Amino acid sequence: AAKKTGRNQVKFFEPTMHAELAKRVRMEGDLRHAINTARIIPHYQPFVDLITEEVVGYEALARWERSDGTFVPPCDFIPLAEEAGLIVELTDQLFRTACRDALSWPAHTVLSFNISPVQLSDRLLGLRLLTILGEIGLPIHRLELEVTESAVIRDAETARIVLDQLVNAGIKIALDDFGTGYSSLSQLSDYKFDKIKIDKSFVANFENSEKQEKVVRAIIALGNGLGVTITAEGIEEQSQLTRLKSMGCHIGQGYLLGRPLAFDFTLPDAKQPERHI
Ligand code: C2E
Ligand code: MG
Ligand code: MG
Ligand code: MG
Repeated sequence: AAKKTGRNQVKFFEPTMHAELAKRVRMEGDLRHAINTARIIPHYQPFVDLITEEVVGYEALARWERSDGTFVPPCDFIPLAEEAGLIVELTDQLFRTACRDALSWPAHTVLSFNISPVQLSDRLLGLRLLTILGEIGLPIHRLELEVTESAVIRDAETARIVLDQLVNAGIKIALDDFGTGYSSLSQLSDYKFDKIKIDKSFVANFENSEKQEKVVRAIIALGNGLGVTITAEGIEEQSQLTRLKSMGCHIGQGYLLGRPLAFDFTLPDAKQPERHI
């Protein structure tokens, strides 16, 4: 389109394109450096059994701490790592750290680790994760992997092979961000997930929308019917928590119950952030 509109237009757009490209190249270099110097680490957000009120596990959420003390959120560097061919190295590093950290948590708690859609089309993913798990010595039953619906669908055949391998090894699989993305009912009836995580957008809105409330109810009923544990993510208000609990939701997660924090806070003798059940 730039060519058609003539030289002046091209000249006008070029500097921005260069700037974009330069920014990208710089960001990629920064990312490579951050991985090499282990500046990207998991933080941990607890999830809580709504009946027993116990922390039953922690979700690892990647954080890149820059030298100025600011944090780059995962949505800004996970896709970049995938495009730059750095995701395998980054994931191995994050997973190794998370498994090691989880060793010092109470034995009944689970480590929940996120896997992106792109990663699920990598046939060697299972082998690498299982190798690290074995090296660190975290019992397999203490690991749960979170995958998104689109991940399961994008390259269904490979995803299935990878998931089967992980499930056969005894790893639990959670379907993350349920309700967003592509239609998932066929996947659900076709595949035995251990957990469904209701997307936080539903949790944010179900109190003000009768329709959304019906959807949340239906997801919980679906989970109960299939024998799948239901987690609600993004719980910020006491009223949401109370309501979800009375609707029969099993597990809760969100800022109200605990924010993602650095490793130290997960230790048994650390001062735990206040909870609100
Ligand atoms: P997710 O797995 O669905 O994680 C939940 C996101 O919601 C996290 O954002 C978390 O910090 C945020 N959150 C938790 N509680 C609340 C709440 O009460 N209210 C609101 N508004 N947000 C809440 P975060 O840490 O920015 O991560 C975003 C996404 O990045 C994650 O979504 C996950 O899909 C991906 N991700 C994070 N770490 C990794 C990783 O190590 N590997 C891969 N492949 N993806 C990761
Ligand atoms: Mg998740
Ligand atoms: Mg989620
Ligand atoms: Mg998400």
